[in-house]
Amino acid sequence: MYIVQVASECAPVIKAGGLGDVVYGLSRQLESQGHCVELILPKYNNMRYDHIWGLHQAYLGLSVPWYGGAIDCTVHCGWVHGRLCFFIEPHSSDMFFDRGTYYGCDDDPMRFAFFSKAALEFLLQSNKRPDVIHCHDWQTGLIPVMLYEMYQYSGMEYQRVLYTIHNFKHQGFGGSEILWATGLNREEHYFHYDRLRDNFNPFSLNFMKGGIVYSNYVNTVSPHHAWEAHYGTCSFGLGDTIHRHQQKFCGILNGVDYGIWNPETDTHIPHPYSLSTFEDKGINQKALRERLLLRMANKPIVAYVGRLDDQKGVHLVHHAMYYTLNRGAQFVLLGSATDRQTNDWFWHEKRFLNDNPDIHLELSFNEELAHLIYAGADLMVVPSNFEPCGLTQLIAMKYGTVPIVRGVGGLVSTVFDWDYDPNHPPEERTGFVFYETDNYALESALNRALDLYYNEPKVFQQLALQGMQYDYSWRNPAVEYVEIYDLIRHKWD
Ligand code: ADP
Repeated sequence: MYIVQVASECAPVIKAGGLGDVVYGLSRQLESQGHCVELILPKYNNMRYDHIWGLHQAYLGLSVPWYGGAIDCTVHCGWVHGRLCFFIEPHSSDMFFDRGTYYGCDDDPMRFAFFSKAALEFLLQSNKRPDVIHCHDWQTGLIPVMLYEMYQYSGMEYQRVLYTIHNFKHQGFGGSEILWATGLNREEHYFHYDRLRDNFNPFSLNFMKGGIVYSNYVNTVSPHHAWEAHYGTCSFGLGDTIHRHQQKFCGILNGVDYGIWNPETDTHIPHPYSLSTFEDKGINQKALRERLLLRMANKPIVAYVGRLDDQKGVHLVHHAMYYTLNRGAQFVLLGSATDRQTNDWFWHEKRFLNDNPDIHLELSFNEELAHLIYAGADLMVVPSNFEPCGLTQLIAMKYGTVPIVRGVGGLVSTVFDWDYDPNHPPEERTGFVFYETDNYALESALNRALDLYYNEPKVFQQLALQGMQYDYSWRNPAVEYVEIYDLIRHKWD
């Protein structure tokens, strides 16, 4: 099958979070199963060019209709660790992707509306006719809309769309200017509750809603989160839309690319280790302490790796730092904040704790350091408010780092509590789970974890080894994706 992934991220060249990992990992797995996969991405000026091989101009003079005129684009082509990627570079005074950042600009909806339009124009003009266009998150929500409303009439009538929602919190909003810019026009048609009109703000178009309404199939990134979005409070206002389209909605658990995240082969860590050489994890722990100037001590290291965003339960991350120190353990944090207030807060903490030899806060995005932390830490906290799937707990387990998670979304389906899990016997359990959002809930789980570490180190190690044995690779999820690709490819023929 010929599949084109259209996304705003692909690790490691463009990565702000799990979306990048998923786009890369799924593509690699699909290719290894014999499918032809290509990726279309924006050509950001701040992406990691050192991870692209053979970058060259592949398509000159791509003219993308825009606001009644057109923007001229160059499409560059290169390989990102073996994946064939097309990067769209618009030549316009808007400098859509030359902002030094992937997201966070006031005109993000316009930037990604343009990207979506340009991706379709590229497919059309270069005569690429994939069986499936796989779109990801709000940034590409307009692709199925434009495909169905416009491009199917210009030669793309057989292309089908799977739309994957990685995070319902970010939906992409815009007004009628989006319609005029993209050439969709017809305000009265699109400002309808059955189409793109936001369910709560009548003056706004909702990109993600458009993606759900117009795609041939929609999924989110774990079955439990699909349930939460449909019946619970996790859809950020799109529950009704999902309900109306429930016959084409499901959840598929994310995988982890074990070609990248594997302690046996990881080139970012000083010493490889596996189930049978688990004691060598200690060498990486020592290296982590050296790198972050932590005191050499016989204490557990608790870590947090992730965005410092309200979604991630930052108040609990903050509490975990101090609680860990109080319990005589060490804490390492690697995270970057998206909003100013959280950023200031953690910078304040960083300065305040600067001389403490038992804690290090690294407030940046650092892929290489993340590998060392997964390998060197003993415990990983993931206290999310909501978590569509979560990759940190999956990666942590692969590295024998025991996760402590809040029981939501994909976390509840992947981490099984050591002390109590009605569905998994002790030999299948992998971590510690708590449910409430208050400090006491986190403390109880963290306490249980640290008690086990201090009082029964052999049992704690056994728990870490159990997590390492799970297969959360892309092998099974990719099969599920192919089933959906096949379904939509044949259903509408
Ligand atoms: P989300 O997609 O919500 O950010 P996930 O758990 O699905 O969360 O994926 C997070 C991914 O991003 C993981 O690969 C994690 O290691 C990585 N990551 C998050 N923050 C950082 C950071 N500051 N530095 C390096 N890697 C990070």
